[in-house]
Amino acid sequence: MTPQFSGDDRPVKIAVIGGGIAGVSAAWKLRKLLGERANILIAEAYDRIGGKLKTVNFAYGPVDMGAEAFMGMRQDFVEIIKDVGLESELRTPSGLPSGLFIDGQLVDIPRATIMGIPADGSTVEHIVGSKAAQRINAERDGVPMTWAPGQDASVGQLVEARLGSAVVHRLVSPMLGGVYSSSAYDLGVRATLPQLASELDRRGADGGGFFLTDVVSDLLAERQQRSASGGGSPAPTFYSLACGYRGVVNALAQQADAEVLYNTGVEAIGRSSKGWYIEPIGDVDAVVIATPAPTASVLLQDMAVKASEALSSIELASSVVVGMRFASDVGIPQRSGVLLGSDAPTEAKAFTFSSRKWPHLAERGGAFVRASFGTLREPWYVEADDLALLAYAIDDLQTLTGERKKPEEFFVQRWWGGIPCYGPGYQDIVNAAYEEVRDIKGLALAGSMLNGVGVPSAAATGIAAAEEIVSEMGWG
Ligand SMILES: Cc1cc2nc3c(=O)[nH]c(=O)nc-3n(C[C@H](O)[C@H](O)[C@H](O)COP(=O)(O)OP(=O)(O)OC[C@H]3O[C@@H](n4cnc5c(N)ncnc54)[C@H](O)[C@@H]3O)c2cc1C
Repeated sequence: MTPQFSGDDRPVKIAVIGGGIAGVSAAWKLRKLLGERANILIAEAYDRIGGKLKTVNFAYGPVDMGAEAFMGMRQDFVEIIKDVGLESELRTPSGLPSGLFIDGQLVDIPRATIMGIPADGSTVEHIVGSKAAQRINAERDGVPMTWAPGQDASVGQLVEARLGSAVVHRLVSPMLGGVYSSSAYDLGVRATLPQLASELDRRGADGGGFFLTDVVSDLLAERQQRSASGGGSPAPTFYSLACGYRGVVNALAQQADAEVLYNTGVEAIGRSSKGWYIEPIGDVDAVVIATPAPTASVLLQDMAVKASEALSSIELASSVVVGMRFASDVGIPQRSGVLLGSDAPTEAKAFTFSSRKWPHLAERGGAFVRASFGTLREPWYVEADDLALLAYAIDDLQTLTGERKKPEEFFVQRWWGGIPCYGPGYQDIVNAAYEEVRDIKGLALAGSMLNGVGVPSAAATGIAAAEEIVSEMGWG
């Protein structure tokens, strides 16, 4: 039968592959756009939906063991939460600062940096030491840097070359690593510090030389100006959900009225006379691929060869979160958390003092702490057993606080392939894949591999994928 595309209301069948936030957002938007005519399937390889969002029931209430927050400036995601009826679950943080652990002391993260890159050595001397601070200040006495517009570099290499390795190890890597689970040496300037990249492009356009500290100084001045002229009441920096991310994932899936096929790992996609054949689901009219990049690469190998190749080059950083509930908060620092550099005397790369960070968790009594382990180059933590990881978490907490605390409850969550590594040249790789797939009618990509690792970004790619499918199929 020849498919009819325009203006009719014949039933249509769409498969969303992957039940993470990108997949359930795509399904939800497809339902909104298509109404009852759509038969929406979500194929999920595991026995639960949510992907990197997982809320665990502790005795005193639900706590997230993957993503636990999102950026307040993402009003698009706030709107989704309101739309699914969860506005009353939104919570804001206490505002307690996070810290760094430097030479046996917890210290504040300096404010006057761009993700740890300073403009002035004196603002970070207590963290990097006096020699490194002098080197930062001496940058303007040395050879200027050049930058070809559009080029990319590893953040670590750029900062080390201009300001020295202490800045990378003690500031930039812990701060970027807290978001990407990768060191600054594995992350690209363009993908992880886009404002810095565009300022480097602007300065480099005439082929002349300039200094990184001048660029950072200008960006800091702009930031200050923006916040001074912000006016009104700005959005909170972060939000969390009292019910945990589980609430949003379930609400989206329920309101999508999708049939969720659990334990259904899709193995292949091919064209069929009806549109697409999905192994093991069967025929559908359209497909959204919302899996991590390596799986998307395999699924695309027969129909989008370049996209498949491009996505196969994306590495994923694995990590482990150990969540611990303590009977009391004695000894837990008055901070939201601590980031740990590669020279810190701990196994953990970060601690979140969740019940200090989130008043709604503090209200439950006791204390809740999350320890995070592993980066792209330290994947072995996911292989360690639960009790070994718990022992690391308890020992490290003692190192940071001087207090030896035994949790009443704990949960170990391993994230194999947790976060894509946004390395140098990342955006070119992803754009190539995205553009090839966009030209294939009835097929769309979504997920944290595309436009940023944050939950709102992943959700937005799902929404965009649904719109793309409806538009290119003429179902609008
Ligand atoms: C430890 C950790 C902490 C984080 N903290 C934050 C945070 O605080 N704030 C924030 O904004 N972001 C955070 N993130 C990032 C954010 O959680 C993720 O980027 C986002 O949830 C990814 O969503 P996704 O739908 O793109 O992918 P995923 O969540 O990976 O979902 C993909 C789904 O596809 C399924 N799948 C894979 N292969 C197949 C197949 N062949 N067939 C069917 N299904 C398949 C998977 O099982 C999975 O359910 C964190 C991530 C981690 C790992």
